Amino acid sequence: MRRKLVAGNWKMHGLKAQLGEVEAIAAAAAANPQVDVALCVPFTLIAPAVAASSALPIGAQDLHEADKGAHTGCISGAMLRECGATLTIVGHSERRADQHETSHDAWAKAAAARRHGLHVILCCGETEAERDAGRAERIVQSQIEKSLPDGASPEWLTLAYEPRWAIGTGKTPTLDDIAAIHAIARAKLRMMVGDAAVGIRILYGGSVTGANAADILAVDNVDGALVGGASLTAEKFVPIIRAAA
Ligand code: 13P
Repeated sequence: MRRKLVAGNWKMHGLKAQLGEVEAIAAAAAANPQVDVALCVPFTLIAPAVAASSALPIGAQDLHEADKGAHTGCISGAMLRECGATLTIVGHSERRADQHETSHDAWAKAAAARRHGLHVILCCGETEAERDAGRAERIVQSQIEKSLPDGASPEWLTLAYEPRWAIGTGKTPTLDDIAAIHAIARAKLRMMVGDAAVGIRILYGGSVTGANAADILAVDNVDGALVGGASLTAEKFVPIIRAAA
C-alpha cells in the first residue's frame, strides 16, 4: 500500500517572514503521521526552513545536472544537501516553459539528484493545446519514457502528473481524466522498471485545494498531491494534508 505524499511547491514565493507558515505546516504534518508531507521552497529558504521545522522534509524546486563547474547562477545537488534539502522537484512545467527544459534535461537532473541522495519528484503533464488535440496520454507517456532515470525506485523517486493548463488556473481535469492518465503513467512505469512500479507514488498537481483534495486523492493511482498556491499558508495547506490522512 502506498502512503500518500502531500508536497508543497512554493515556487518563487517566500521570505523569512513566512517561516511561521513552515512551522505551522510542520506541526500539522506531525499531527497527521499517516501522511507524508514535504515542502519545496526557494533555495534561499531551504536552510532556514530546515532549522524551523526539524522533522518536515524540505526540498528544492530544481538543481543543475552537473555536480559542480562553471555554471553561473546554478545550484548543485551537493549544495542542496549541504543546506539540508532531502528532496527536489525536477522537470516542472514552468521550467519547461520558462527555461526551455526538455524531458532529457529532467532525466539528467533526476540522475544528479539521485547521485546526491535527494529524493526526486519528477513532473510530467500536457499543455492545453496537446489535450485539445487528444494527445495528452501520448505526451505523458513520452515524457516519462524520456525523463525517468535508470533504476528508478520508490525509495528515491516520485512521479507527479501536472497538466500545465491546470496549474494556477483553478481548472482541473475531471476525476475520470485524472484516473486515465494516472493509469497510463502506472503502466508506463511498469514497462520501464517492472515490479518497482507498484511502489512508486504518482502525485496529481494543478489547482489542488482543500475543497477538491479529498475527491482527487480518492482516485485510483493518485498517491498524493503536488500543491502550488494552496501550499503557501498553513490555513490553505493543512486541509489538504488532512484530506490525505
Ligand atoms: P497550483 O497548485 O498553484 O495550481 O500549482 C501546481 C503546481 O505547479 C505545483 O508544482
